[in-house]
Amino acid sequence: MLSNTPAFQKVTALRGMNDILPGQSARWEELEASLRQWLSLYGYQNVRTPVLEQTRLFARGIGEVTDIVEKEMYTFSMSADREDLMTMRPEFTAGIVRAAIEHNMLYERPQRLYTMGPVFRHERPQKGRYRQFHQISVEALGFAGPDVDAEQIIMLARLWKRLGINDIRLELNSLGQLQERLAHREALIAHLEKHKDVLDADGQRRMYTNPLRVLDTKNPAMQQMANEAPRLFDFLGDDSRAHFDNLCQRLDDAGITYTLNPRLVRGLDYYNLTVFEWVTDRLGAQGTVCGGGRYDGLIDLLGGKPAPAIGFAIGLERLLALWLDEAKSQPSDECDVYFVHSDAQSARAAARLAEGVRDRGLRCIVHPGSGSFKSQFKRADASGARLAVILGESEMADGTASVKFLRAGADGATAQQFSVAQDGLADALLDKLQDQ
Ligand code: ATP
Ligand code: MG
Repeated sequence: MLSNTPAFQKVTALRGMNDILPGQSARWEELEASLRQWLSLYGYQNVRTPVLEQTRLFARGIGEVTDIVEKEMYTFSMSADREDLMTMRPEFTAGIVRAAIEHNMLYERPQRLYTMGPVFRHERPQKGRYRQFHQISVEALGFAGPDVDAEQIIMLARLWKRLGINDIRLELNSLGQLQERLAHREALIAHLEKHKDVLDADGQRRMYTNPLRVLDTKNPAMQQMANEAPRLFDFLGDDSRAHFDNLCQRLDDAGITYTLNPRLVRGLDYYNLTVFEWVTDRLGAQGTVCGGGRYDGLIDLLGGKPAPAIGFAIGLERLLALWLDEAKSQPSDECDVYFVHSDAQSARAAARLAEGVRDRGLRCIVHPGSGSFKSQFKRADASGARLAVILGESEMADGTASVKFLRAGADGATAQQFSVAQDGLADALLDKLQDQ
């Protein structure tokens, strides 16, 4: 029968979508725990929104004329009339704002919210750019700033410090308000018309629909044109300037350095006033680790009671790469106690004794299968365990276990191996680990 089954072609993960394996996942968990703790210092609370949302949420919330909505979204339908179009979230902000509106969260008080998890964009995969990647998204809804703008940037500076990341810099800009952008837009379109010959297809298409986005181009042939374009920053009115200056003062107070980048417009449509990015040179072309800004119009745009807001998103793959690059790698930390044994009978005893030790909260690994003591100790060492429990023939004969220290203690000394009754094993291990 089996021989008639056609050979199964090996399945691999989809392009741009990565498995995170043990070893890597330990670092992810460590990073996520550190992020949660950091967010709690500033009163941010966790929300979790669905992976799938109605497509029109993103079309409206991110903007029709953006890379994301025009070409990067995973969108599909489950019905013949395609009236239920849904999209796998390409970012979190629109979904969080939708949830805040849907649950009337902004009526009582402003909200500091965060979420983390996978997001999806159909881009060309390369180093630092994937189709499923992870973001942490941090949103302060109902705050006009600029105090909270400064707080978010200061908290990010604290995060880099916590993680030991030095090689990262802050770029800042202000996009002003709608009226200011409209005045700038006319000047910008005139400039683009004058340089039509250097615009690529995207640039030509967006010239009238979203001229600001044309300046966000990565096309080298368009850089000079973009650098010479009229600067939105020069069109800011008094209030917008005051908001920006106040933010800068607070950053100065906190000792945070920044550069004004008048070409920083961010990929999304909904930003106004403050926009910022944290950039590193260590990650090659994909150097933007974090991007954020104010989006005072978004809640209104999505049908909520108008309220100002600001937020940022960090790409976790890029953050992790930077963190691992700067902080030295650490040994594995699979368990506290590693059990080695000599034959089938002692292997059974090890499995039983390990259960008792786990009852006391210690993490145990029992060496799988057989193998020489030498090879078992090799694995014990690699596991990061501090203690090995040895169940050999002589131990089994007199109902004891030998315990060996695998790591030097706090005083740098490696203690002697010792013997305990199997009955008292868990107590003895706890004792020794506390002493260390
Ligand atoms: P880029 O200019 O690199 O395409 P973006 O403006 O599209 O970035 P945002 O939408 O602001 O990025 O997303 C916030 C962060 O998410 C980025 O700063 C980056 O760290 C990360 N990010 C964005 N796209 C990807 C991707 N395809 N793969 C991995 N990380 C990404
Ligand atoms: Mg992008």
